[in-house]
Amino acid sequence: MADDKRVGILAAMPQELDAVLADFDAEQAVQLAGRAFHRGRVGEREAIAVISGIGKTAVAATTTLLISHFGAGEIVLIGVAGRVSPQLSLGDVVVATHALHHDLDASPLFPRYEVPGLGADRLATDAALSALAYDAAREFLAGRAQVVNGLVLSGDQFLDETQIAELRARFPDGLAVEMEGAAVAQVCIEAGIPCAIVRSISDEGDHLAFARFLERESGRYAEGIVRRMLARQALAS
Ligand code: SAH
Repeated sequence: MADDKRVGILAAMPQELDAVLADFDAEQAVQLAGRAFHRGRVGEREAIAVISGIGKTAVAATTTLLISHFGAGEIVLIGVAGRVSPQLSLGDVVVATHALHHDLDASPLFPRYEVPGLGADRLATDAALSALAYDAAREFLAGRAQVVNGLVLSGDQFLDETQIAELRARFPDGLAVEMEGAAVAQVCIEAGIPCAIVRSISDEGDHLAFARFLERESGRYAEGIVRRMLARQALAS
């Protein structure tokens, strides 16, 4: 995380945004396109945090505004996700090395899942920013849960247990499913901006488990991980 860059923080849910904003000094909100962008300082860093919006279109627009209107030089997406890998448990954290649109299919014009124009289906996040997120999540969890790196699957549906099982069969190395990551990765690749995607496992397709995790844990996770990411950067510089 380069010190001179303004960091854009996309929080999936209000619970997460509020927790992250508790660490902001001189916080100021700016309204644009129906979104409240919160500028402020976290230690030495200039940051701007906003609710991502649910789904790929919403988050693509939010990410574009963060970069081109608010001058974010790097992007961190933080939120919750459904468990795909049987290796994971509720409360574990996934840091994406890649994200993929599991509902994109322009075949036969392009191979299934490939993003037309990018020539790739697995969209890479930034290795250095993701390593920072990984270390921050490990420190936050302090052995109470796992942190893993790998593939995050994104689509415009909240998947139930049966749909997650079907997804697991299609992507044996998929770790988690959510509704925004691949869109953020795609916008950031096109803009040449580093991004990291951090997801805590909230459910296995059960919306009650999702709601429970959201209320009890998601804010604590978001704040704990983002604050440590920013502090690590300050130490490194
Ligand atoms: N009615 C809910 C909708 C949340 S959608 C509400 O507003 O409270 C679920 C969000 O969490 C999405 O942004 C997605 O990224 C993530 N997510 C968590 N579990 C998921 C699952 N099983 N399938 C898809 N997305 C999931």
